[in-house]
Amino acid sequence: MVILPLQKTWEHEQLEAIIPRYKRQDQTYRDMLNHLRREQAGYLGEQSLQYFQQLLPHKIAALYGLRALGNQHYFQIDLLLVLEKFLLIIEAKHFQGTIELNHFGQIVQTINGQRHVYQNPLEQAEVQKYQLQSLLERHHIKSPPIHTCAVFTHEDVLLKIDNPPANLLTYRQLFQFFQHLYQNSSPQITHAEATKLSHFLKAQHTPKNRHIFAIYNVKSDLIKGGIYCDDCERSKMYYRRAKWICKQCQKTDRYALIRGLKEYALIFRKTTISNGEARDFFGFPSSDTCNRRLSFLRKTGVTKNTVYHIEDLFKK
Ligand SMILES: [Zn+2]
Repeated sequence: MVILPLQKTWEHEQLEAIIPRYKRQDQTYRDMLNHLRREQAGYLGEQSLQYFQQLLPHKIAALYGLRALGNQHYFQIDLLLVLEKFLLIIEAKHFQGTIELNHFGQIVQTINGQRHVYQNPLEQAEVQKYQLQSLLERHHIKSPPIHTCAVFTHEDVLLKIDNPPANLLTYRQLFQFFQHLYQNSSPQITHAEATKLSHFLKAQHTPKNRHIFAIYNVKSDLIKGGIYCDDCERSKMYYRRAKWICKQCQKTDRYALIRGLKEYALIFRKTTISNGEARDFFGFPSSDTCNRRLSFLRKTGVTKNTVYHIEDLFKK
């Protein structure tokens, strides 16, 4: 049972909105692109864990991407399972290429002839365990023992590790690892206590809330406005007879403006847009045209102070 569903982080969504519109020659563009790639890898890793998690009995509580305050610092867990017998922290690594473990416990990735060094995911999981314990102790919450494992989720990964620790796994080993753990432990808390524990943790979830503008030196004038085709990324669309049409592939899309407005909301971290702002960003030829295009949105205020509510577009 999924208690905290898999979700893209806020930073991930902002980066996806801003990068296709940002000037490519700028250093900020490259920094943001690297950041997006890390977010994407993290998301794909967690997504891969879904197949495993869906094989488990329904009563096992699953929390994806839980981020909470531990001992003075925040910690984040890719997937946490809550059972009567134990809690299991699963750290996912979506690495490709060849992975080795050196004598210092560092992970060395070799891909396309290049080597990259990363922190050992089991050490990361141990820190998460310590932080989770601190959180539970601080709130006097009864918990079964906490176990950890790290999983390499990418299909194209070759693990070259002699005598790997029992909880360092390929994706295919994960289910077996879980079953072994399950069969060799006994309940420490009741089902009601486990449910209470998982809902307590969900309530502690504090997603990162940073604006990309506060992390990078984003220059607003390097962000291109307009409506773009989602098939040919950088091609503009024009409006004709209630449809948006791509200049390049001629694809028509009734919802292109909604997509554009959502991107605007994410990029500038706004819940509303005024007529003037919409004209500037989307290039509507006149104030009247702009009002007509946005007329499907809820609006508040009068005359010059009228704003359209774009936050409604995110409600399901
Ligand atoms: Zn197109």
